[in-house]
Amino acid sequence: MKRKILLIYTGGTIGMEKNHETGNLVPFDFRHILNKIPEIDLLECDVSVHPFEKPLDSSDMGPEEWKIIAECIGKNYENFDGFLILHGTDTMSYTASALSFMLKNLRKPVVLTGSQLPIGDLRTDAKENLLTSLYYASLYENDEAVIQEVAIYFEYKLLRGNRTLKYSAENFDAYQSPNYPVLGQSGVHLHVEKEFLLRPKSDEKFSTDTHISKDILFWRIFPGMSPEYFEKLPKVKVLILQVFGSGTIFNSDKTKDILKKLRENGTEIVVVSQCVSGAVSFGKYENSSIFQEIGAVSGNDITAESAITKSMHIVDNQNYTGTFSENFSKNICGEISVSLK
Ligand code: ASP
Repeated sequence: MKRKILLIYTGGTIGMEKNHETGNLVPFDFRHILNKIPEIDLLECDVSVHPFEKPLDSSDMGPEEWKIIAECIGKNYENFDGFLILHGTDTMSYTASALSFMLKNLRKPVVLTGSQLPIGDLRTDAKENLLTSLYYASLYENDEAVIQEVAIYFEYKLLRGNRTLKYSAENFDAYQSPNYPVLGQSGVHLHVEKEFLLRPKSDEKFSTDTHISKDILFWRIFPGMSPEYFEKLPKVKVLILQVFGSGTIFNSDKTKDILKKLRENGTEIVVVSQCVSGAVSFGKYENSSIFQEIGAVSGNDITAESAITKSMHIVDNQNYTGTFSENFSKNICGEISVSLK
């Protein structure tokens, strides 16, 4: 049976080709993608293309575009077996993370991919990324989708979207998922690591919840930073602090007083690590106990991209009962390891 895939084209390098007169890279009309990659016809799926009106560099994408994509998937959920999103690589991990929170009880594949070189380039990585993504997006067994989550496929690896980060602006192998195993690997054979795949936690039907607040701030501390800077930050609902190692910060009374005041004024503080691998562990060192004392939330082993989009999604969201801290600490869709402390 031929599976039906909706390909949502948002922009990025993948959709560009060289204008041979000017030598510039320009976006091409993605409705004609099927002519560019005739190999698509050989796959066991029918592809419908839904292009963004204006293709975007992914650095221009954010909450509005995440909502548009989530709503497009919501509207077309029943009519398609899988979804493929072509996206610029720079912010793909943010979009994948945001979508993972917005698409509830997903039972169909949502795969994002892009490329480091345009599809028209002789050495392009776009074709392999696109064709194998289509394969994963249309993979079914016993009439059930094998992938039931938001994933990124890039350079032979299928990764959980909300565990990824772009770590190379140069290599074809541009994404990592440092705190979660690879979901699938493409070599001579296409593998899926079934034990690591996400399954919906409840029998509830698929739905979308596109709540996203922009009332958050992300701040990376650095050696020598004056704690007074914290007083100069704009007032926000959620302040995500990216601190050292397993959750440490300069240990002064001043720091404690200022952060305490922020908490008393209603700011939620989430703590994530500047290390991309491993986890925040409050209390491991004296220099992290300050966070326990002020009632900050540990981001544990979550990525910065997921911490940002998760905070945006849960803060002031009427669909979540309980406190911000309780909701942030929960594993919503595989983005955080809850057993770590
Ligand atoms: N700047 C581009 C983007 O993120 C880079 C890419 O697509 O690889 O849209």
